[in-house]
Amino acid sequence: MQLTATDIKDMFRRIAGRIEGERDHLCELDGKIGDADHGIAMEQGFSAVAKALDALAPETATPSDMFNTAAKSFLNAVGASSGPLYATAFMRAGAAFKGQGTIDLADAPMIIEAMARGIADRGKAELGDKTMIDAWKPAAIAVVKAREAGEPVAAVLAAARRAAEDGAEATKTMVASKGRSSRLGDRSLGHIDPGAASAAIVIGVICDFLDR
Ligand code: ADP
Ligand code: MG
Repeated sequence: MQLTATDIKDMFRRIAGRIEGERDHLCELDGKIGDADHGIAMEQGFSAVAKALDALAPETATPSDMFNTAAKSFLNAVGASSGPLYATAFMRAGAAFKGQGTIDLADAPMIIEAMARGIADRGKAELGDKTMIDAWKPAAIAVVKAREAGEPVAAVLAAARRAAEDGAEATKTMVASKGRSSRLGDRSLGHIDPGAASAAIVIGVICDFLDR
């Protein structure tokens, strides 16, 4: 089974819909250890992406074009730190499938690995810094490990989703050392990182979408 540019557009549309529903919750989480705008940033970013992708001609666009357009529109729409982080994530996903007219479903979980790499390259956060990396990186590692073990796509996706959820939950026990919340020091303890929470949501939607 092959994913087309239209499938990638649909995937982004689903992410946008889900993030819209979680906007207030994400703002609340950010209100505890940041500036309470994370839900707004994510919603504005993904709705701008959905709109920009609608304007691309699906007959001529490749999956890679979709990711690259997503990167530009997310960056333009979002002033918060999540803007350049997700823009770089989408660029890496675009680069991973460059020159391909379609994406083989078996390779599609590598979208998660490419996005995680982009966020890490851009933000330089490590595991345990209490950022979105604490959800993205374990998910990426789970994808690579499950693929190396020869697991079927559904199992690869299930492993990625679980790793992202566990990673986001684990940020509760971490002290922030990157981004705005690092100014709080120990007071960031006990709260889930908003970026990790939204990452688990995004990864969950991607996994749902690819599990067909
Ligand atoms: P801002 O902090 O500018 O208001 P957002 O509220 O949109 O931006 O996003 C906050 C989230 O960004 C944090 O919860 C954290 O997960 C993530 N973040 C901040 N800095 C980094 C970084 N260097 N690397 C990865 N993620 C980061
Ligand atoms: Mg914020």
